[in-house]
Amino acid sequence: MPTFPFSETDPIRHPGPPPKASEVVIVGGGIIGVTTALFLAQRNIPVTLLEKGRIAAEQSSRNWGWIRKQGRDADELPIVIEAIRLWRQLAEECGEDIGLTQTGVTYLAKTDKDMAGFEAFMKIAAIHALDTRLLDADETATLIKGMSRKFKGAMTTPSDMRAEPWLAVPALARLAVRKGVKIVENCAARTLEISDGKVKGVWTETGYIEASSVLVAGGAWSSLFLRRHGVSIPQLSVRVTAAATDPLAEIYAGAATDEHIAFRRRQDGGYTLAAGGSHLHYLGPDAFRHATKYLPALRDNPLGTRYFPFAPSGYPDAWSTPRDWAPDSHSPFERMRVLDPAPEPARLRSIKRKFKHLFPQFERVRLKAGWGGMIDAMPDVVPIVDHVAAVGGLFVATGMSGHGFGIGPGIGRVVADLIQGNQTGHDLSRFRLSRFHDGSPVRLGPAL
Ligand SMILES: Cc1cc2nc3c(=O)[nH]c(=O)nc-3n(C[C@H](O)[C@H](O)[C@H](O)COP(=O)(O)OP(=O)(O)OC[C@H]3O[C@@H](n4cnc5c(N)ncnc54)[C@H](O)[C@@H]3O)c2cc1C
Repeated sequence: MPTFPFSETDPIRHPGPPPKASEVVIVGGGIIGVTTALFLAQRNIPVTLLEKGRIAAEQSSRNWGWIRKQGRDADELPIVIEAIRLWRQLAEECGEDIGLTQTGVTYLAKTDKDMAGFEAFMKIAAIHALDTRLLDADETATLIKGMSRKFKGAMTTPSDMRAEPWLAVPALARLAVRKGVKIVENCAARTLEISDGKVKGVWTETGYIEASSVLVAGGAWSSLFLRRHGVSIPQLSVRVTAAATDPLAEIYAGAATDEHIAFRRRQDGGYTLAAGGSHLHYLGPDAFRHATKYLPALRDNPLGTRYFPFAPSGYPDAWSTPRDWAPDSHSPFERMRVLDPAPEPARLRSIKRKFKHLFPQFERVRLKAGWGGMIDAMPDVVPIVDHVAAVGGLFVATGMSGHGFGIGPGIGRVVADLIQGNQTGHDLSRFRLSRFHDGSPVRLGPAL
């Protein structure tokens, strides 16, 4: 079965060399780095974006493509509401079809307890006047056709959206370039140059870039990059598996999930699928270092994670991955241009089985592709969006915890303002870096 279409053998579409100086340097060419760069360039700020592999080749293209307000953490919600407005605007501005469609998101309820959980979100939805509503069993069966199970009900948000991530983020990168961003693929940021408590520039594998501000938006690699400079963030990653079917009849135009299977209609007429159940975590030094911070998440869902004693060589938290390196020597970032975990075969089988079980009318489901991804997570399931107090000019936007695609343009706009020293228009205290070190209790956000 074909796996994911992005790899380090793809042609380099944004070649170097990087400039000798740039007001802002962004580390990481996922949705967060790309949209931050775009908003800065729109304000005529010189920006260089460094991507060790290819634009969007890691999480930002492998995700399910859900753009949702539904079920969000209350503090993320205002940013995701803005993000949805920005998605529409950017889709128009980029002039490419990125599959952006307003088709809704639906969570299916098996039990009264599930429905009670949905009611808790309805209170948050009411504050923001969302169109989220609860459905009874019959309304649920009408919304999603041909399900073999009768659900207690559902929660649905018709104004939520979907897009094709592997089209969207490269298209936004091209728009950013047209606005003046210098993107350099195949160029790892190795270390920061810091003196007198301020960032002075970035050492890359092809030389030095002088810069007064640096944003670390490195997804699953951010913790490794920052730790080299004494900035500790309790970020870990989990491996997940997803798949795409051949074209099938439309049973629902949006995205939906029960406890067994998540499905999302695709622009090509198929579905992007993932099975419920546990994800895989590779134990490494960071896992032990930050274990206590993850206890609340573990208690909340003790069976949600399976463990393996070591990561494949070259992974960010592998036992053999160096934690220190010199600016002029190979770093772990260029050793692994694209973090491309294989899909788990058992997961692919269960995806197919569960989808066919829920929709028996699909007698012949063929998975045309299956892929893996490493999701970067924080202990409280919400990101870090902040400046680093101890290092002037250093900013961090990472740990999107499995839901950074939809909110991406909102975070990008906010971070562009943070970097410029402007008011961001949102309360970012929930996302502050210091929450992990100032004795604050871990306050869990929703997992989905
Ligand atoms: C299977 C799956 C399903 C998901 N489904 C959804 C969904 O439906 N909706 C949703 O909102 N979110 C979803 N997510 C989560 C979402 O994809 C991520 O939260 C989001 O893409 C994170 O974006 P990012 O820019 O922070 O990181 P990434 O997309 O991981 O990008 C970081 C980039 O930084 C680069 N980099 C790292 N270190 C360096 C360095 N030193 N120098 C240069 N480059 C560097 C990496 O190569 C990488 O390309 C899903 C994720 C997965 C894996």
